[in-house]
Amino acid sequence: QAKYINKATDLAKELITKAVSKKDIVVDATVGNGNDTLFLCDLVGEKGKVIGFDIQDMAIKKTEEKLKDKNMMARVFLINSGHENLKNYVDTEVSAIMFNLGYLPGGNHDITTNYETTLQAIKQGIDLLKKNGIMTIVIYPGHSEGREEKKRLLEYLCTIDQKQANVLKMEFINQINNPPLLVVIEKK
Ligand code: SAM
Repeated sequence: QAKYINKATDLAKELITKAVSKKDIVVDATVGNGNDTLFLCDLVGEKGKVIGFDIQDMAIKKTEEKLKDKNMMARVFLINSGHENLKNYVDTEVSAIMFNLGYLPGGNHDITTNYETTLQAIKQGIDLLKKNGIMTIVIYPGHSEGREEKKRLLEYLCTIDQKQANVLKMEFINQINNPPLLVVIEKK
């Protein structure tokens, strides 16, 4: 077992940790089982805000339960809507945005993120990021929708003006079975 470079999701968290301070406002674009929401709630502290999106009612409810248990509901807004509607709900600068694409583990594998709506959300998210704000995008090319999403997102992401942001792709190149990859965007 490796110690430092195991999983795209862990690398995402490391970079998010650098960019987020107490009292910040951040976005979890794919709430799912709420693990990233909880992680972000810890980072922003009791005076911060985490705004979370998921299209599945079940994901929002499960995450609410998780946050209630930890007494963290006061620092979160959970929105049962697609992240492509980000700008309808958020009109302030944010210091971090996390995307963990694909389907909900333990849920319906047919409900997955889709490159068209993901692209809309990424574009809106880049606008909302403050200077030196970080966006992480974990992509799962192990299923067909995810493969298409990887291709389409990378086509767009490599066209982002380097004066606007740095865009980094981190990909395990010696692992079998299409492991998840991470794209990180830092706004300049
Ligand atoms: N971050 C989560 C966690 O820590 O447990 C895992 C997220 S899971 C891999 C992907 C989630 O994205 C699913 O719960 C799915 O319902 C959600 N999703 C799919 N399309 C979406 C959309 N347009 N907007 C927001 N969430 C979406």
